[in-house]
Amino acid sequence: MGEAFRTACLIGWPVKHSKSPIIHGHWMECHGIAGEYRLEEVSPDDFTDFVTNLAAHGYVGSNVTIPHKEMALAASEPDERARAVGAANTLWLDNGRLRSTNTDVEGFVSCLDDQTPGWDANLENALLLGAGGAARAVAHGLLERGARNAYVVNRTFPRAVSFQARLGSQIHPAHWRDVPALLCEADLIVNATSLGMVGNPDMEIDLDAARDDAVVADLVYTPLMTSLLKAAEKRGLRYADGLGMLLHQAARPFELWWGVRPEVTPELRDLVVRALNAG
Ligand code: NAP
Repeated sequence: MGEAFRTACLIGWPVKHSKSPIIHGHWMECHGIAGEYRLEEVSPDDFTDFVTNLAAHGYVGSNVTIPHKEMALAASEPDERARAVGAANTLWLDNGRLRSTNTDVEGFVSCLDDQTPGWDANLENALLLGAGGAARAVAHGLLERGARNAYVVNRTFPRAVSFQARLGSQIHPAHWRDVPALLCEADLIVNATSLGMVGNPDMEIDLDAARDDAVVADLVYTPLMTSLLKAAEKRGLRYADGLGMLLHQAARPFELWWGVRPEVTPELRDLVVRALNAG
């Protein structure tokens, strides 16, 4: 008898522009898994009921995106990473228990390991622009990798302050006016705002002041080469793009649902780049 057909999904509101089905579909094909990765548009009012009945909906697990990541944490048994970040992006059923993790953390660090190897060798000062959900995952990853200091700059300053309460004394809230001075000292500069994304204003910081050995990372992947990454390239700095994080954050959920660790390959990247270019 053939292997049972099983499904996982991405739950969001809205969710239709996601490229995750392409990533998971590619890996299922590579590993001969009989299954499907679907998109589920679920309203905030219906979310908790939906995930507490995930098996009844036919799913072995799910990814979770905006605006449900905090609710996913509350509805499940989170691991240490999800608890520390305060948000979960992956749910899976473990003998009837609904468990959760946050794979944006490993998506970010694995992307840098891949695209800018050695980035964490002497990580004294990181400059983190943004203080939303994704920035919390980045900050946690930076601390896991031994960053001494992470300076968090955000338009809404109190959000940056709340980072310190959550993640500890190595986090330093800072203002936009501090950026030029912080840039001179930063080993790593990360854009975790939505600035630079299609339809949004650009991230305007002057990388001339950055150190020659600084690494730049942008979480935005539409466009793939943001104005920040173009500036980093022009300045001769090493950089990592948001697509790398998107691909790497998907590996752990796949492993949790299907029991096999998939690889982020140039072939997969090309596939997703083509889909992004097609709109
Ligand atoms: P979020 O929680 O809504 O946070 C958005 C962040 O952007 C906040 O820090 C916000 O500042 C800032 N921001 C928005 N508009 C701004 C503006 N005009 N000027 C200055 N700051 C502005 O969103 P998120 O989930 O953290 O996502 C942030 C970015 O990361 C998005 O571009 C998202 O697509 C990307 N992302 C990428 C991946 C990946 O795998 N590559 C994964 C997750 C997220 P305020 O607090 O002041 O509003």
